[in-house]
Amino acid sequence: MTRLERLQERIERPLLVSDLVNVRYLTGFRSSNAALLVERGRVRLFTDFRYAAAAKEVPGVEFVQAKRNLYVSLSEQLRGIVAFEARALTYDRYETLRSGELELVPTRGEVEALRAVKDQGELDAIRAAAAITNEIFGRIAEEPWLGRTEREIALRIEELYRELGAEKPAFETGVAAGANSALPHGKPGDRAIAEGQTVVVDTGCVVDGYCSDCTRTFAAGRLSDDLARAYDVCLRAQETGLLACRAGRTGVDVDRDARALIDAEGFGAAFGHGLGHGVGLEVHEAPYLNQESSDTLAAGNVVTVEPGIYLTGVGGIRIEDLVVVTDDAVEVLTSFPKELVVVR
Ligand code: ZN
Ligand code: ZN
Repeated sequence: MTRLERLQERIERPLLVSDLVNVRYLTGFRSSNAALLVERGRVRLFTDFRYAAAAKEVPGVEFVQAKRNLYVSLSEQLRGIVAFEARALTYDRYETLRSGELELVPTRGEVEALRAVKDQGELDAIRAAAAITNEIFGRIAEEPWLGRTEREIALRIEELYRELGAEKPAFETGVAAGANSALPHGKPGDRAIAEGQTVVVDTGCVVDGYCSDCTRTFAAGRLSDDLARAYDVCLRAQETGLLACRAGRTGVDVDRDARALIDAEGFGAAFGHGLGHGVGLEVHEAPYLNQESSDTLAAGNVVTVEPGIYLTGVGGIRIEDLVVVTDDAVEVLTSFPKELVVVR
C-alpha cells in the first residue's frame, strides 16, 4: 500500500494536508506552496504555476493549479466538510478558508502517525545520516580542543559534513563548554575551551531528506569529581533509557525509567527536558519520550534517548543516541563510544 492509501484508510472525512513536510512524505513532492486534499478514492494536489510541471509528474494525484495565494483558491474551489491540520494551518489561512463554503474540522497527527513508523528506505537514509555523524565524532575527537573556541569546533563539524557528503546539517551544531554547557541549548560562542570543562556537542545531518541526531559530552582534560560523577549518572540513565525502549511502551514510561535513576542520584532538578523525540524528515517529530507524551512506541519508530544533567554555573552533560525501536529492544545507530572521552 502506498502512503496515500494508508492515509485514506485512516481518515473519516476529506483531509486537507497543508504541512509541507507531510505533503512531501505522502507524495515525494517538494514545494514551498502546496496542499493535498485527500479523500477516499481521490487525491488532489494544489500548487501554483512555479511548481506545476513537477506537480504533474506526481503519481496517484490530480494536479490542480492554484493561485499564488493557495488558500484563496482552496476556499473558492472546495465545499463541504473538510478536516484540516490544526498544528500546521496558520490562523490567517484558516480565516481565508473559512471565508468560502467549507465547514472546517480540526485534526491532529494523522500523517505524523504514519511518519512515525519508518519503512526500509527511510531507515536506510537515517542509517546513512547516522553513519556520517558517527564518522564526524570519530574525527573531531582526534583533533586538538584546548584553546579552540566553541564556534571553531562547530564550524569544523559543518565543514566535515560537506566533506563526507551529507546533504546539509540537520540543525545548527551545538558546541557548549564549561558553564555554557549547563544550558541545554547553549549556542557556540567565542569562549576558548579550557582544562577541566565538559564540552557538549550536539549535531546531526541530512541524507536523502532524513535526519540524524547525536550528542556526546567530552572532557577537556581532567574533570572535577562532581562532573565525573554526574557523567557517570547520566550515562547509566541513558543506558536505562535504551533498555526501556521497545514497542508497546509509552513515551511516559520510557522517560520515567531513565529519570528515576537521575532522581535517585540526587540530580532530578538538573534534568529539565524530555528523554527523547522521534527523528525522520524532521529532527523533532513523533513519537515523543517525555512526561507529557501521549505516544506509545511501535516497531519502526526512530527515536533519540538523551538524558542530560545541567549544573548551573559549573557544566553540563548530555548523552544522546539515535535508535530504531523493535519489538523487544532497540537497534542503536550511534556508534561513537559513551565512556567519557578525554580531549586535549
Ligand atoms: Zn541532538
Ligand atoms: Zn535530540
